[in-house]
Amino acid sequence: MTTLETRYHDVLQTIQHHAQRANRNPDDITLVAVTKTWPVATILEAYAVGMRHFGENRAEELEEKRPQVEAALGPDSGIVWHFIGTLQSRKTNTVADFGDVFHALDRLKIANRLSKQLKENGRHLPTFLELNISGEMSKSGVNATNWENSASQRAEIRTFSETVASLPGLTLQGLMTMAPWEAEPELIRTVFRRTRLLAEWLAEERGWERPLALSMGMTDDYPLAIAEGATHVRVGRALFGERQTH
Ligand SMILES: *Cc1c(COP(=O)(O)O)cnc(C)c1O
Repeated sequence: MTTLETRYHDVLQTIQHHAQRANRNPDDITLVAVTKTWPVATILEAYAVGMRHFGENRAEELEEKRPQVEAALGPDSGIVWHFIGTLQSRKTNTVADFGDVFHALDRLKIANRLSKQLKENGRHLPTFLELNISGEMSKSGVNATNWENSASQRAEIRTFSETVASLPGLTLQGLMTMAPWEAEPELIRTVFRRTRLLAEWLAEERGWERPLALSMGMTDDYPLAIAEGATHVRVGRALFGERQTH
């Protein structure tokens, strides 16, 4: 087996193990292989060993790599392209054109621009709202640092999610969060748990039957995220090794 194949199987096994420990079905968890900074050749290698969901966090990379991968594999490869990074408003058209799932919607302006562009190109984009739960990680994400006690934060999240759910071209698929770096496992797990509880609260408020999906967990913390209900884990280094900085 190649290194990539070995790592892939290790990650799949870890997902399965932690899903079973949490009494969950491993099939309910999508592994998004984060290929940011890696060349198209790496994506093709990952495809050959069985990966189908790829995550990019820069619009330029998505725009450059997707056509090259499709040129190599054809349009019906079964690949799903996830855009996982913060999106600048001048780059929304790239994600409207080349993204299949968007994980980091954090502003109404972005939602409106995407919706308009999706109406024009006839595409459809399942979308996760990015929430800032921990307050430590970064400034990105809708402020939910104190959602349990703050009626105004809850109102803002509810209004934003309703707007997104009603915009043509966008579907509200779920919530996304990032855990703080290098924190104690208990704290990281609390951030994931609070995100899940927020998703449950929101679905109940809105009367949704279907639970919201949860995009949470990266190389260092995806087992904890699975224990707290993650449906999408975004894993880069555990599959591909350390990235070269760019
Ligand atoms: C880079 C990145 C990941 C993957 O991080 P790893 O530590 O390599 O697993 C996940 N989510 C987002 C938003 C990222 O930018």
